[in-house]
Amino acid sequence: MQENYTPTVLIVDDVPANIAILSDLLKENYKIKVANNGQRALELARAKEKPDLILLDIEMPLMGGYDVCKKLKESSDTKDIHIIFVTAKDGLSDEEHGLKLGAIDYIKKPFHPAIIKIRVKNHITLKLKSDKLEEISMCDSITGISNRRFFDEAFEKKYKETSREKKNLGVIMIDIDYFKFYNDNYGHWKGDECLVKVARAIKRTIKRPSDIASRYGGEEFVVLLKDIDKEGVKKVAEALVHAVANLKIEHEHSLASKYVTISAGVALKETEEISMQELLKKADDELYRAKESGRNRFCAEF
Ligand code: GH3
Ligand code: MG
Ligand code: MG
Ligand code: MG
Repeated sequence: MQENYTPTVLIVDDVPANIAILSDLLKENYKIKVANNGQRALELARAKEKPDLILLDIEMPLMGGYDVCKKLKESSDTKDIHIIFVTAKDGLSDEEHGLKLGAIDYIKKPFHPAIIKIRVKNHITLKLKSDKLEEISMCDSITGISNRRFFDEAFEKKYKETSREKKNLGVIMIDIDYFKFYNDNYGHWKGDECLVKVARAIKRTIKRPSDIASRYGGEEFVVLLKDIDKEGVKKVAEALVHAVANLKIEHEHSLASKYVTISAGVALKETEEISMQELLKKADDELYRAKESGRNRFCAEF
């Protein structure tokens, strides 16, 4: 997240005057988006640039606020957006229902402008903190690239996405060659430095915004490439092997080269018939073949 990040508040209400009041109140401190019905609210919440907080009216024609909240909380894509109901429904059971649906707060109309401002500020502060924690928990502390936890989630997401969209999904498993000898010879601190350089080289080599590179384990990395064909995924694997070799990090105890090198195994999902586990296993088997056949190379079955 950027230092000077301006949080976005989405205001949802079927009465334009209500939107105008809330918007005037908050526009000084936040980026404001508005929706005058539930359907539009869902569209804006699902868009790439998500709101951090939604001020959600309950009584609206067609789709009410409860339904909007329920739908947003059901989807992994939108469940982390904080929701505050701002509503004329002032019964205790309404409030209880709203909070049970996952809203973080419930404000009754007519509201006091100063109170709304403070509550929004407090909830935004919490939201940004929880985003930061989420980001940290997905990041590998040594190399700075995403970690295994992130990969496991991303893999499942991309697997489902590509199955739905009938697109290919490429997986490249990567392992540094003779890394134990590297540590033994140069020390663990140098080993860590080397991991950082290799991670950066991998990250630099993958080009599209949808491509993902994560640290899978010790000296192992994994790359996910959506919507790619056989030739494409092999090209990326070759580029990765070259990128690391070209760093020319001295490794005098390697049996594969005088520099640090990687081996890689490639797998491609073209149909849904291969499961997530099988796909990873395939990449791992190919990695093993690359190791067996001399290292500093990639292997693919195709
Ligand atoms: P191969 O070519 O067969 O992959 O040989 P290798 O020596 O790389 O494989 P092995 O699995 O025997 O050793 C992996 C080494 O990676 C062992 C461990 O010292 C090192 N390693 C794993 N995680 C880290 C880390 O976070 N920092 C450092 N410095 N070394 C690590
Ligand atoms: Mg209304
Ligand atoms: Mg290994
Ligand atoms: Mg290794």
